[in-house]
Amino acid sequence: MIARFLFAAILVVLASAGVEGVLEYELLTRSRSEERLAVLNRVSTLRADLEKELIENLSLIYGTANFISVTPDMNQRKFEQYAKGVLAWDPLLRNLAAAPDFVMAYVHPLAGNEGLIGFDYRANSKQWPQVQKVMETGRMVIAGPLDLIQGGRGIIGRAPVFATFNGKREFWGIVSAVIDTDRLFQKVGLTRTGLRIALRGVDGAGEGGEMIFGEETLFAPKAAPVKVAVRFPSGTWVIAAAPGGGWDSRPTHAVEFRLLTMGFVLVILFMLYRGMRKKHILLKTRRTLNEAQAIARFGSWELDMRTGVSWWSDQVYRLYGVDPEEFEPSLDVLLERIPEDDLPAVKSALEKTEHSREPFSLFHRINRADGSQIHVHVQGAGEYGPRGRLLRVVGTILDITEQVRTQEALRKEQLKLTAMADASYDAFIMIDARGRILFWSPAAERMYGWTEKEAMGKEIHELIAPVSYHEDAKAGIRRFAGTGTGPVMESIMEFDSVRKDGSILPVERSVSAFQVEGEYFAVGILRDITERKRFLEELTRLARIDGMTGLNNRAYFTELAELELERARRQGHPLCLVMFDADRFKLVNDTYGHDVGDQVLVGLTGAVAESMRRTDILGRLGGEEFAALLVDTDLESARLVAEKMRKAAEDTTVTIQDGVVVDFTISLGIAEFSENVPDLEHLLRFADQALYQAKTSGRNRCVAHGDAPPDPAP
Ligand code: GH3
Ligand code: MG
Ligand code: MG
Repeated sequence: MIARFLFAAILVVLASAGVEGVLEYELLTRSRSEERLAVLNRVSTLRADLEKELIENLSLIYGTANFISVTPDMNQRKFEQYAKGVLAWDPLLRNLAAAPDFVMAYVHPLAGNEGLIGFDYRANSKQWPQVQKVMETGRMVIAGPLDLIQGGRGIIGRAPVFATFNGKREFWGIVSAVIDTDRLFQKVGLTRTGLRIALRGVDGAGEGGEMIFGEETLFAPKAAPVKVAVRFPSGTWVIAAAPGGGWDSRPTHAVEFRLLTMGFVLVILFMLYRGMRKKHILLKTRRTLNEAQAIARFGSWELDMRTGVSWWSDQVYRLYGVDPEEFEPSLDVLLERIPEDDLPAVKSALEKTEHSREPFSLFHRINRADGSQIHVHVQGAGEYGPRGRLLRVVGTILDITEQVRTQEALRKEQLKLTAMADASYDAFIMIDARGRILFWSPAAERMYGWTEKEAMGKEIHELIAPVSYHEDAKAGIRRFAGTGTGPVMESIMEFDSVRKDGSILPVERSVSAFQVEGEYFAVGILRDITERKRFLEELTRLARIDGMTGLNNRAYFTELAELELERARRQGHPLCLVMFDADRFKLVNDTYGHDVGDQVLVGLTGAVAESMRRTDILGRLGGEEFAALLVDTDLESARLVAEKMRKAAEDTTVTIQDGVVVDFTISLGIAEFSENVPDLEHLLRFADQALYQAKTSGRNRCVAHGDAPPDPAP
């Protein structure tokens, strides 16, 4: 900037110096001509005075000549008388003389001029030519100024005298007078003009003549004198004059003028500096701004609402894809580049700014010069005049094409995901590293009763896990946040979750984790397995239960019995097994048919079951043979239970078709579990032996293993 300022400053100084030169020259010329005019005035007066004096004095010579021509008997006395009268006027004449036939005869005053008498012009080679000239021209001839014979300097005027003799005009002689040069010059004030004066033209030869007065150099062109001719009979002198101190080389008021110019230049330079500095700072700021904007893909603009003229930062040109050198931004071109769909929003934003004075923020697209389209975020605010008129709008523009595209892509992905989640019967749930819910699918809403709005941001376990699980869950989440893994990660497991209404919802849960920008997230798919579980339970039940009687089947009874045996052994509690079999059942089948047999078996087991405790375990071992495991029951108690069972069967009848009542009984064998019984198999065998004994001893009775064989039935 400094260099540029110096350059500009030099230009200004040169220009002002030039202007000052021209003006000064103009002034100088004017003041010179004024000065010359003043000199000329003065010299003209001088000339007039000189001419007046010369003519006046020379006319006295003519007068003398006339006097002589009318005085034929001229003598010294008459001449003296006349001359005395002339000189009494105190003219500049030093003397008057008359020379008849070229020889000086009369002189006045005679005193001091005696030497003149008898002077013969013809003998003086210097004066003779002049005298001849007087004769030839018949007019007065001026000589000198020259050094006089009698001393001093004088101008000699010589005039011819013609006298009439006998009616005939004849040359008489010469009349001459000497004009005292010093007095002449004194009188006209030649030395008191205050000017430098030079005079030349000895013998009336004009400028070509000898110097009369002053310095010859004054006639040199260099001295630029004012020249004036002094005209008198038979010649001219030329006065050259210049001001006493020489011509003024500087115009009037030159100093003031210079000071003024300098002041003017200083003011201009100061203003120039300020202007340049301001512009420099502005440019620097704009450059920095442009650099920053290029990095941030961020532009700024100004729009003059009165003229429609716009200013753009470089980045705005880049955004529009136009060349700042060729493109002229304005409101019109701005609007031209906005796709039609976006125009109303832009226009209404501008209108709103005009009326509401609120800053605006809007998103629109721009058709770039190369035909491509970009998305921009434009923000702006108005600047208002004193009467609230919108003067300018200033704002920023940001290229958000990438964000918009990413967002669009993301939105599409999200739509797909949502559609997937919507279509799925399984719940999709996404959580962050702290277990907070970020995604809650419609299926999740259906399954748990929590809406998406309610669920978002909540901690997943607090929402759907049973309270008993909360502590473990928190620990699991902490581990997940740190490592991205946890007890439930990358696994499929079943889990009893809790609905909004508190009911249990069994789900199959599969969770997998992923990492985005260093943070862990997890997606869980929860499948409602209520139905499956019920189905499995049913299958299990079917696998364990005898379909006809509803009792435990042999396998499951065995399984349960093993467990109870183990428990009884561990706890030292008593345990008894009662085995029972329908008496003479073949007969029932044979009599009423197999179906009735089945009905009887169902009726029988129902009656027996009712006579037993809930804790006891009843099972069908096969055909019409059953077993009951009596827990916490010693042999004596078992006898009582068995007897109750026997009685229940005895008291029960099954009424079949046509009101036929079928009666039946059972025989029971009891075995007590003890240290001597190694396992279930043995216990069953012992009970079976007791049952056999009951059969053989008459049926419809209870026999315990180890009882004494009864007396054979009668
Ligand atoms: P006992 O008093 O000696 O036991 O005489 P019983 O006729 O009952 O003889 P046994 O126990 O040897 O015979 C059982 C019969 O029970 C044989 C079989 O046909 C019949 N039975 C076994 N299971 C079923 C069944 O599920 N339904 C029907 N209807 N009959 C069965
Ligand atoms: Mg049997
Ligand atoms: Mg039987």
